[in-house]
Amino acid sequence: MTRDALAALDAADPLRAARDRFRLPPGVIYLDGNSLGPLPVATPGLVADAVERQWGEGLIRSWNDAGWIDLPQRIGAGIAPLLGTTPDCVIACDSVSVNLFKLAGAALAARPGRRVILAEAGDFPTDSYILAGLARIAGAELRLVARDAITAALDADTALLVLAHAHYATGAVHDMAAMNAAARAAGVLTLWDLSHSTGALALALDADGADLAVGCGYKYLGGGPGAPGFAWVARRHHADLQAPLQGWMGHAKPFDFTQDYTPATGVARLAVGTPPILAMTALAAGVATFDGIDMALAEAKSAALVRRFAILAADIAARFPALVVEPPPPGRHGAQLVLRHPRGRRVMAALIARGVIGDFRPSDRMRFGFPALYTRFTDLWDAAEALTQVLASDEWRDPRFDALGVVS
Ligand SMILES: *Cc1c(COP(=O)(O)O)cnc(C)c1O
Repeated sequence: MTRDALAALDAADPLRAARDRFRLPPGVIYLDGNSLGPLPVATPGLVADAVERQWGEGLIRSWNDAGWIDLPQRIGAGIAPLLGTTPDCVIACDSVSVNLFKLAGAALAARPGRRVILAEAGDFPTDSYILAGLARIAGAELRLVARDAITAALDADTALLVLAHAHYATGAVHDMAAMNAAARAAGVLTLWDLSHSTGALALALDADGADLAVGCGYKYLGGGPGAPGFAWVARRHHADLQAPLQGWMGHAKPFDFTQDYTPATGVARLAVGTPPILAMTALAAGVATFDGIDMALAEAKSAALVRRFAILAADIAARFPALVVEPPPPGRHGAQLVLRHPRGRRVMAALIARGVIGDFRPSDRMRFGFPALYTRFTDLWDAAEALTQVLASDEWRDPRFDALGVVS
């Protein structure tokens, strides 16, 4: 592989123009958009307008005049094509953690008599923390099982199966249609965490027969730090959906101020409190970066980037045997690659000091993300060069990499 060959791939990339939708700082190769998406070009202007005109001049009138009150649904409608669903099935709200609680609680309510929540051991920690807390107050049991034991564990006591579609650490992707079919045959509802899939992989929630899903707004969707997430509910469940957090914003008529709770129609009832309009405005701008993007092309491009970076990294590992390339899982996988190194935290810190930004996950995983909208094939070459330099110079041993921040 040569840099010129990679430049030719960039020139032929049907998604290359999408990079102009982002403001990427010069001198940085950003391979961490799977943790925090970069700033879309449109975001500063839209947020400034929301602050200065909508809030500053419109004041409370903007709930109606600027459409603030409908923003969670409008953003949901924008996310819908990325999920392979219809606009009325998605709402932007709360964090992934809170949305998991709401939908897992709704699933328990929909399966009275079944008290087990099944989830995969080793999935993203907040998911099992939230489910354990819910199980405690709901008199349910959280059962964590290994990946290859999931279908066998679906039984008549199981109310709900919670799975991350793309695994945050390994990038492994579940066969969603097959899992949904197995769960449905056992009378079990599925709740998918799409945090590492939305905006990275082509999804088909309706065609694949999923029941419930949540996803993240600040990773591939580019909604900014702490952006709200989203919740999705298959239309067949809308009428009976009973979530445990009944807030006034999910009421059919919040401004009637009635004592009794009457849920709004469909996913609108998943709103809890007042939506954070400034954060929602930034999320809307992030979601809009996917306008007109064919997610099958995006998934294919990310897979090609992962494959080529794995080849470049294997060449480096041949020179520096402490470095191990974790091969991408066979078949579909997330838009990421993991390189392991016993001093991975320091090696990553040294790479970041050189402007190549990825992240680190214990115990030894350096994780690199390859979102399709702005990552270039030539970035792979330049990142590999930087990694070679870091390892060849031993600069990761420098004491300045002793001090580490809380966030990695
Ligand atoms: C990023 C991520 C989350 C984040 O949850 P928040 O509550 O929004 O912070 C949850 N689950 C998975 C699988 C994730 O990757």
